[in-house]
Amino acid sequence: MAIRTAPAGEFDARRRTVSAGLRDRKLDALLVWLSPNLRYLSGFTGSNGALLVLPGRGDLFTDPRYDIQAAQETTCQVHIGKGPLVDAVLSAIRRLGVRRIGYEPARMTCDVFESLKSHLPMKSSLVPVRGWIEEMRMVKSPGELDLIRRSVQTNSRAFERTVGRAKPGMSESDLAAELEYRMRRLGAEKPSFDTIVAGGARSALPHAQPTAARIAAGDLVVVDMGAFQEGYASDMTRMLFLGRAVPRLKQMYAAVLEAQLAAIDAVRPGVKAHAVDRAARRVLERHHLGREFVHSTGHGLGLEIHEPPRVGKKEKTMLEKGMTITIEPGVYLEGLGGIRLEDTVVVTGNGCEVLTPTSKALRTL
Ligand code: ZN
Ligand code: ZN
Repeated sequence: MAIRTAPAGEFDARRRTVSAGLRDRKLDALLVWLSPNLRYLSGFTGSNGALLVLPGRGDLFTDPRYDIQAAQETTCQVHIGKGPLVDAVLSAIRRLGVRRIGYEPARMTCDVFESLKSHLPMKSSLVPVRGWIEEMRMVKSPGELDLIRRSVQTNSRAFERTVGRAKPGMSESDLAAELEYRMRRLGAEKPSFDTIVAGGARSALPHAQPTAARIAAGDLVVVDMGAFQEGYASDMTRMLFLGRAVPRLKQMYAAVLEAQLAAIDAVRPGVKAHAVDRAARRVLERHHLGREFVHSTGHGLGLEIHEPPRVGKKEKTMLEKGMTITIEPGVYLEGLGGIRLEDTVVVTGNGCEVLTPTSKALRTL
């Protein structure tokens, strides 16, 4: 079923912003190949497409499978081509006499780039554009924030419903499958990344894939999960203790929670992203766990599960009202296990709002 991710007017306004910015970048058009950027600018959700934004117009190219869907989802001029998209795009470039065409190297394969370049009209050229649309996407509109809120709610509900029934003896992959099933029953299209469920010492692998290993009494289990709902991502990590946690793990849990709360406290408009990372790192260093915190504190999320800004040591992006980021410090001790806690938050006028409703109290099954 065709779905709209936001009111049509919002897509038009985004294309107008791009149209208005072309001149400053010395471009006549921006070519956007299939990616979340294309969805962001057109509303089109199909799996094959390209978009050409010119002053005052937007042209979407796709194939006959998406004839009906494209007409429902976008107000762009839709071109249905039977052959390769590159041919349709090239013929529009010729017809419209477009010269300087911006393209996104991060979003296009070398194959597409080479075939475009080798058939371009004599007077046309391809100019790399980096991060422009991603930068626009960092600050979410009220409509987008509603969708992220819903995605977060669905994700947390799926967690509660699954964990309420989880018991020792279940395999990691059973638990992951159950979480993803619940998520879909509650309205998600799919998980926003492969669900992580890792028990015991395997929880020390920050990005573990679930295995057939059974979670046993005395285990500590990391659950990192997220949903895509109407195109928008959520992301959350919680820890489960099966039985009583050993004191060392309890101490680690308390330290990570303290670090996570300190980072959340540091989030407000006008603060650079690295200051938020610093706030989490400082707490863990004080607990002599600085070296065990091997990744960034968080990342932006929206139409993609990882998007700018990164909340890392060197990230200078200034936080702004409407940005959505995760806060997820973690510590990992080989042979013992890992602890991570993650929430999705939105930057508000004077701080931030934690969207994730799930409790962070130490949870034992
Ligand atoms: Zn996560
Ligand atoms: Zn994350």
